[in-house]
Amino acid sequence: MRGISILGSTGSIGQSTLDVVARHPDAYRVVGLAANSDVDGMLAQCRRFRPALAALADAGAAARLRAAVADEGLGVDVMAGVAGLDAVATHPDASDVMAAIVGAAGVLPTLAAVRLGRRILLANKEALVVSGALFMAEARASGATILPIDSEHNAVFQCLPADFGHGLAQVGVERILLTASGGPFRQRTLAELHDVTPEQACAHPNWRMGRKISVDSATMMNKGLEVIEARWLFDARPEQIQVVVHPQSVIHSMVQYVDGSVLAQLGNPDMRTPIAHALAWPQRHAAGVAPLDLFAVARLDFEPPDLQRFACLRLAYDAVAQGGTAPAVLNAANEVAVAQFLERRLGFTQIAEVVERTLDAFPHAHADDLEALLDADGRARAHAEQLVANGV
Ligand code: NAD
Ligand code: MG
Repeated sequence: MRGISILGSTGSIGQSTLDVVARHPDAYRVVGLAANSDVDGMLAQCRRFRPALAALADAGAAARLRAAVADEGLGVDVMAGVAGLDAVATHPDASDVMAAIVGAAGVLPTLAAVRLGRRILLANKEALVVSGALFMAEARASGATILPIDSEHNAVFQCLPADFGHGLAQVGVERILLTASGGPFRQRTLAELHDVTPEQACAHPNWRMGRKISVDSATMMNKGLEVIEARWLFDARPEQIQVVVHPQSVIHSMVQYVDGSVLAQLGNPDMRTPIAHALAWPQRHAAGVAPLDLFAVARLDFEPPDLQRFACLRLAYDAVAQGGTAPAVLNAANEVAVAQFLERRLGFTQIAEVVERTLDAFPHAHADDLEALLDADGRARAHAEQLVANGV
């Protein structure tokens, strides 16, 4: 019986994780649940899974949850704020921690679990974008196992030999082929992208996801963040990571070896597959996902990404090449820009503009510690907010 804590339990990945966990009641016990402010969602999860501890980052929401939990006599401890997130991440009974908070807000609680050497199921790609070098160094020091949940990285993980940690060259890997659906606007011209609405941007053709990652998919910043994520997870050189647009989202990514072999992982686009894979690893168990019907899929298409129309992908390659604080700055500016776009205060194509101008405003700086990274994150956020306030 493994104890699991879920950071971001009320979100898309959090709910899918609980769906898989509920299919295997003899294998997992839910120890801790954490989220931002969704009292009703968290209360329903407390009723169903009876965790030892539930935390909400928002103090007012946590107080309402505490009252409701006491009212119903659920026997769940409730905590608030950053301390609450930390307590869920580091709960002594949690051998496994699903990191599924969206954005840089997930960095600190996830790192806390990494430092304790827990098994980390990593969905929160922004944590690696912001603090990749440090994150992986901490994992090596504590012996924490990092299992990728992002479907592409989970696919790459499945296509690599167990000893890939010795170095990609050592195990004969030439390139990582990271597939991308191309999002809802794959075939739009730059001019047609100008007046795109949040509703259109969030209507992904293949995946149901949270709003932030849906917008990231539409700008292809999501793929940019994933290039940086892959760079750290697999210790790959950025030029070794090739983005391949594959609209069907059936191949979740591939690994190309020196002998010419290309290994791929296929499946229906359902996040319960990578979640179940990581939960059961190195074994397998059922995920509730329909079997892939290749005859219904019929064909698989591939095309190169267009860095002209999808400037965010180019900016992410630039940032990872710069290194240091640049990826943290890229991520912070993007979080601000996406939030403003969702509030209809920023146009869709202005997201890339805000990111580019923020990156330009912060020349390359080394980042030896978390403080420097979080400081860069904070300053980049303030700069991006200012750009939006001034009409970019
Ligand atoms: P979501 O918006 O549906 O859920 C986000 C969760 O994080 C919620 O539980 C929310 O309460 C919590 N949260 C947000 N801000 C918080 C804060 N400040 N403190 C504490 N909790 C906070 O997002 P999602 O789609 O589930 O994505 C979660 C992460 O997984 C993201 O990093 C995303 O990039 C990654 N991911 C998601 C998918 C997907 O299919 N949804 C696929 C791959 C990777
Ligand atoms: Mg992905």
